[in-house]
Amino acid sequence: MKKALSSILLVLFTAFALGAQQAQPPKPEDVLKNMVLVDKTEPVPDKMKPGFESITARDSIALLTYISSDLMEGRETATRGIQLAAEYAASLFKLWRVQAAGDLPVVPRSMAAMFGGTPPAPPVKGYLQEFAMKDLTDVQSRLTLELRQGATVKTRAFESGIEYQSMSSTPESLSAPVVFAGYGIAEKTAGWDELKGLDVKGKIVLILSEAPGKNDPKSPFQAKELKEKYFPPEMPFAYRMMGGFNKAREIAKLGAVAVLQVRVSAKDADLYKSMAGPTAVDDARPIVNEPRRRLLIPGAGDRMPWESSPVITITREMADAILENSGTKIDDLQKKIESTYKPASMALPGTTVTLATTAKVALVRCRNVVGYIEGSDPVLKNEVVVVGAHYDHLGKRGEYVFNGSDDNGSGSVGVMTVARAFAENPVKPKRTVVFCLWTGEEEGLLGSRYYVRNPAFPIDKTVAYINLDMISRPYDEKNIVRMGRMFNYAAGPELMNKIKPADFLPVSFAAGAGLGDVFREADRYIGLSLFLRESTSNERGGGGSDHSSFSAAKVPWAFCIAAMTEDYHQTSDSVEKASGDLMEKISRLVYVAAYTIADK
Ligand SMILES: [Zn+2]
Repeated sequence: MKKALSSILLVLFTAFALGAQQAQPPKPEDVLKNMVLVDKTEPVPDKMKPGFESITARDSIALLTYISSDLMEGRETATRGIQLAAEYAASLFKLWRVQAAGDLPVVPRSMAAMFGGTPPAPPVKGYLQEFAMKDLTDVQSRLTLELRQGATVKTRAFESGIEYQSMSSTPESLSAPVVFAGYGIAEKTAGWDELKGLDVKGKIVLILSEAPGKNDPKSPFQAKELKEKYFPPEMPFAYRMMGGFNKAREIAKLGAVAVLQVRVSAKDADLYKSMAGPTAVDDARPIVNEPRRRLLIPGAGDRMPWESSPVITITREMADAILENSGTKIDDLQKKIESTYKPASMALPGTTVTLATTAKVALVRCRNVVGYIEGSDPVLKNEVVVVGAHYDHLGKRGEYVFNGSDDNGSGSVGVMTVARAFAENPVKPKRTVVFCLWTGEEEGLLGSRYYVRNPAFPIDKTVAYINLDMISRPYDEKNIVRMGRMFNYAAGPELMNKIKPADFLPVSFAAGAGLGDVFREADRYIGLSLFLRESTSNERGGGGSDHSSFSAAKVPWAFCIAAMTEDYHQTSDSVEKASGDLMEKISRLVYVAAYTIADK
């Protein structure tokens, strides 16, 4: 159970990368500027029409029913279930005459060829792009505290999932001196800097969560924006991860190797209880006892933020042990900061923490599915637009199957119906369009990260990437309000009166490549209520899904994601909740957008 909890956190980190950066709260009129509201849709241009009309709600649901059936066993990466889904997609690509851009077959050299017979026909590519990943099981993490005072050395060991929760997914060790940084906040507008003059480079930084003076009107953190930033309202973890400001990440930017965080609003007893796992269960929410596996791409140099910067939530008891040499306790330091509103940051001489993670490692085979439709222009066909979605999900645990209908059967089906639309449309755009289904997204965007290093078509000729993740659940008013909070502004009544919640679709995109305008134009033929969100993140594309891999490779990207519901990452994410109409509209939008970019 203990491991299951930290793994759930890991999965959420995977889905909503730490890199998500906080947007400044925009004014209502700016929000409206980013809305696309279509009064009356126009007929789609003739050159795109047959493809456009081939995308239907009925076909979308038909494909989704199979992809998210129990037979697929939740499509966990490197299992039989996901391989079935891959073979299914590949066979449909072939049926629809989508061309293959996966691996060349491994042909055993025939005896005839060896003895100088007829040379074999040139090998033909398949649809699957196969690669090996490291599969980590039995991950054990342990933290050792060493306190030196004069000639005396004292050590204490703490177990992961008992005294602390760790996000780290790599089997490596680190050891560093510890410094205390108060709440770990540098906030100019509050005239507050707890990191000034404190050497955190190469150190492990001990901090308190949130900010000082949550309920004290005299606190410099009582201004509305600061309250929203440091005392976010109770929201599901996933929402906080998507839009929330992340202190630990800011501290890591200063060169800290790890952050140990004491949760201000949780008692030790609560933390132990949460690590002990849930006790109540219903059919939709099984208690998952097995630890989730961790997969890594062997030899991949760069690390995702959650792999390289462990944030460790610790108990107060553990914090007090770390503070022992300073002769003070974490509660006293908190009280001191809150009574004086002055930083109490300090180095902790003689205090070293070692974090050691070990695991069993094996190599497993995984597969992306890759097809394409060649462009019609003899020169421009060398440039490509990639449309992709992850088709993996969380697998099954015992008898419980995580069907992953919305996440991300729906996006996978979107890619498939868009591929068929390009195949069936007699007039091809000038550039080539590539269709990818990614494996390993839930484990850390692994399939797309592998692809950008081993692309079917050169990355520097890839003009855009469009990502689909969770496109079958319509918004309602409640969801829109929640999403407004997620991006740090309230969806005002002006906004609510103008949009049809069921047709609401946020589209994020990389700045500077004109992709927002492409979607704005494309929506004239569909009539969704688009919310265009230019990414403010310069690192991982706002985090969250496979577009981050393309963003890291400097490919302009766009990302469509419909409503996130309480079925997210639950066994209740099943096909009968999917809206075929919404899938049809979003897939048509992506078809027109991809066509427009490819035909420019
Ligand atoms: Zn997903």
